[in-house]
Amino acid sequence: MLEVITGGMFAGKTDELIRRLERHSIAKRRVALVKPDLDTRTTKVRTHNGKEFDSITVGRNDTPTIETIIKEHEVIGFDEGEFFGEDIYQLLKAYEQTGTDKIFIVAGLDMDSEGEPFGFMPQLMAIASSITKLHAVCENCFIPANISYSLVEKKAQVLVGGKDKYKALCWKCAAAENKKKAQNS
Ligand SMILES: [Zn+2]
Repeated sequence: MLEVITGGMFAGKTDELIRRLERHSIAKRRVALVKPDLDTRTTKVRTHNGKEFDSITVGRNDTPTIETIIKEHEVIGFDEGEFFGEDIYQLLKAYEQTGTDKIFIVAGLDMDSEGEPFGFMPQLMAIASSITKLHAVCENCFIPANISYSLVEKKAQVLVGGKDKYKALCWKCAAAENKKKAQNS
């Protein structure tokens, strides 16, 4: 079964992923957490609140390694799901379509900082049994945020960072910031 936890940065996606994995750990199920090697910040998955969970770093399309991990575990979490490539999507889809007993929980960004769908998250959401969409609070007006607004000039869709590089904004406030930026340049 595939569960997807999605939304913007600072919405608590990784907290929710770890909460779900811990429930299965307590029930003594074999649990693994993988994250893509694009995110090289740490060997553990750490939430913005400082919560930690041991993780295995894998290549974004490394299906042989991920298949081995899937075979050895019952519950497999994927953090930063937006960074995984098509091969991993195809692998999870193939498992799902056999009616597998494995539980896959993918947490990842729904959109990049420009508001475009990120990586294979839309496809994963399409085949998921359940989707949880979380929102941060807009740092300017305090309604639910829609996007992870980039505070620095970005050259590619992938720019790994935290509060130093991004802030959570609603669409209205993001548009206002873009207008301000355009006026200043
Ligand atoms: Zn706002």
